Amino acid sequence: QTISRSPLVLEGLVKNFGGVTAVAGVDLEVASREVVGVIGPNGSGKSTLFNLIAGMLPMDEGRVWLDGKEVTGQPAWRIARAGLARTFQIPSLFDNISVHDNLMAAAVESGDWKRAPHRAKETMEMLEISHVADNLASELSGGQQKLLEFGRVCMRDPSVILLDEATAGVHPNIRRIMLEAIRRVRDSGATFLVIEHDMEMVREICDRIVVMDAGQVVAEGSFDEIADNIEVQKAYLGR
Ligand code: ADP
Ligand code: MG
Repeated sequence: QTISRSPLVLEGLVKNFGGVTAVAGVDLEVASREVVGVIGPNGSGKSTLFNLIAGMLPMDEGRVWLDGKEVTGQPAWRIARAGLARTFQIPSLFDNISVHDNLMAAAVESGDWKRAPHRAKETMEMLEISHVADNLASELSGGQQKLLEFGRVCMRDPSVILLDEATAGVHPNIRRIMLEAIRRVRDSGATFLVIEHDMEMVREICDRIVVMDAGQVVAEGSFDEIADNIEVQKAYLGR
């Protein structure tokens, strides 16, 4: 049996909540430095898919490989240590410590002490939040909190990054900073799977798009291929 060395491989993922099948057999392989967008109407299973990949929900069926190593059924912390990092729709930060210390805390989780101060500085520069380094996370705007959460992900130097609506509802300036940061982190070697509702953002950052509806992948392709796809139009018109 050939073992794929792709950063992320999903095989037959299934998740039921009582009578509701949230994820109904998803297969996906993401190549190194690829940015794959996951789109689909509300309730189509996108966030549940992320929770299964990250080990934050037990799956009913399926297997997951990270960098060629199977992580199926492992706890979230172990999958994180294997190289996966994620953001949430609502940022999960330490509200009562500074921006700088939020980044340092992320480095503690990954155990890379020596480079942490330098990395924190670089990360704040990349995300244009150096001027609020000493502010509490709770004092940031919603958009800045999203940038900080992405910064915490970057501090851990993950191989695979899952972003759940990284730019939903943010100011265009924050959106631009996030977009450029994603490109930079991708260029430095990371692979992305992103849930995104902003189709302009999808067009700008995604190499490939996967369309979900009712827990299944109903279409897959480049932005232009997807935009012409009738199933996709149905899924969105039916929202
Ligand atoms: P999306 O992120 O695409 O909006 P979700 O993954 O959040 O979709 O939800 C997919 C389906 O699973 C929906 O029908 C939702 O109601 C259901 N669901 C999600 N999480 C839970 C849960 N913890 N318990 C029960 N049902 C859930
Ligand atoms: Mg969701």
